[in-house]
Amino acid sequence: MTAKRVAIIGAGPSGLAQLRAFQSARQNGEDIPKIVCFEKQDDWGGLWNYTWRTGLDIHGEPVHSSMYRYLWSNGPKEGLEFADYSFEEHFGKQIASYPPRAVLFDYIEGRVKKADVRDWIRFNTPVRNVRYNAADGTFIVTAHDHLKDSTYEETFDHVICASGHFSTPNVPYYEGFEDFNGRILHAHDFRDAREFEGKDLLILGASYSAEDIGSQCWKYGAKSITTSYRSAPMGFDWPDNWDEVPGLVKVDGNTAYFKDGTSRHVDAIILCTGYKHFFNFLPDDLRLKTSNRLAAADLYKGVVFVNNPKMFYLGMQDQWFTFNMFDAQAWWVRDAIMGKIEIPSDINTLKADVADRIAREDAAVGDKGAIQYQGDYVQELIAETDYPSFDVQGACEAFFAWKNHKKEAIMEFRNKSYKSVITGTMAPAHHTPWNEALDDSLESYLQDDVLSKTA
Ligand SMILES: Cc1cc2nc3c(=O)[nH]c(=O)nc-3n(C[C@H](O)[C@H](O)[C@H](O)COP(=O)(O)OP(=O)(O)OC[C@H]3O[C@@H](n4cnc5c(N)ncnc54)[C@H](O)[C@@H]3O)c2cc1C
Repeated sequence: MTAKRVAIIGAGPSGLAQLRAFQSARQNGEDIPKIVCFEKQDDWGGLWNYTWRTGLDIHGEPVHSSMYRYLWSNGPKEGLEFADYSFEEHFGKQIASYPPRAVLFDYIEGRVKKADVRDWIRFNTPVRNVRYNAADGTFIVTAHDHLKDSTYEETFDHVICASGHFSTPNVPYYEGFEDFNGRILHAHDFRDAREFEGKDLLILGASYSAEDIGSQCWKYGAKSITTSYRSAPMGFDWPDNWDEVPGLVKVDGNTAYFKDGTSRHVDAIILCTGYKHFFNFLPDDLRLKTSNRLAAADLYKGVVFVNNPKMFYLGMQDQWFTFNMFDAQAWWVRDAIMGKIEIPSDINTLKADVADRIAREDAAVGDKGAIQYQGDYVQELIAETDYPSFDVQGACEAFFAWKNHKKEAIMEFRNKSYKSVITGTMAPAHHTPWNEALDDSLESYLQDDVLSKTA
């Protein structure tokens, strides 16, 4: 019998988790399907693969990454650590809890280098289309090899879409934008906080991007920061030159007008207004249509597309948990494809599972309830595979503590340390407080940290 063929779309953390899951089965002596991972960028890491570019990449494709210089992890690394590859294994020592992007990229890369799966990836190769052939139950994937400038088709038994959902910006319009005397950009195109040094900055939004981009700009010398919320303020104890105001009504020249009747001068506007789940390479019958929530629509167990259970999606949920949740999903999908887990054949059973997840998410109270909901989901999946079990509740506790630390001091939470749920070691305090650490390089971050008193 010929081996099944599996296509993975995207080599970000989710797609790489899938490669590692299959490689780990092979390492255990199992026969695995033929795997082809299509990646439109020239390197792996997904959003963590930083580029200075905005707009279009070298091939004319939309730039994927929404990350920026000076981006430090916005949650404790103890909440995302791989159960099969600890930070200590990678760096040879325990490191502080909020690494910058380059450090996390290095960590993600370390595991897949060790697994030796780079050859499974076709870089510079965006997937253009996927068709399902009901006659023989296969998928025909159309891909574009940019290096050869050639488009080709290949047939697969399963498709796993791991293309991410924080790359295509949601861009609102407000009256007066076309005549604004300054720069208006979406968070997706934000790259370097120093651009806004000395400027009065308006940020639209009240979620992570608004909080973090505002914090970066504050750290690198913005004159003032105004964040404008639609439903509720973030409510942190902001520095003196940071105000939260209700929704924007319009701009006129350099004056911004808000719903509470106030107005103020602004030099630049950053739209932290979210992202769209956007799959322009998928036809209607295979395309996931969901809002950004923890219980994504139409995904049995959060991964199986109910309208065609041979198709899977990874990482499509809103995320408290990230890398370890992608692992939990990838191990589960691997076992479903390899016949070790049975997917119910009745679509109503699949849909009932989705409805149950949505109801449970809706019943979860506040951020703590949402974190617990997602932690329980991770636990549910890993209990059904051989992914190394770890203290998921301990990771939830790290997130609970992190939320409290943010409430205590929003510009200081990144100076805190947490205990690894994989190795049990306490992270050292970082050598420099976050607001004074202007160099986000790996070399600077890995200089010897201060041994934590609690270590
Ligand atoms: C600004 C920002 C900051 C963040 N900070 C953190 C953080 O501090 N900690 C944390 O844990 N998480 C953070 N995240 C969350 C982030 O979603 C995850 O960490 C992770 O990158 C998601 O992995 P993914 O593989 O699902 O998607 P992505 O990282 O988006 O990777 C998807 C991959 O698919 C490829 N692709 C897309 N379309 C195609 C196609 N048609 N053909 C071929 N390839 C394709 C892309 O090029 C990309 O490589 C942040 C997200 C953003 C936007």
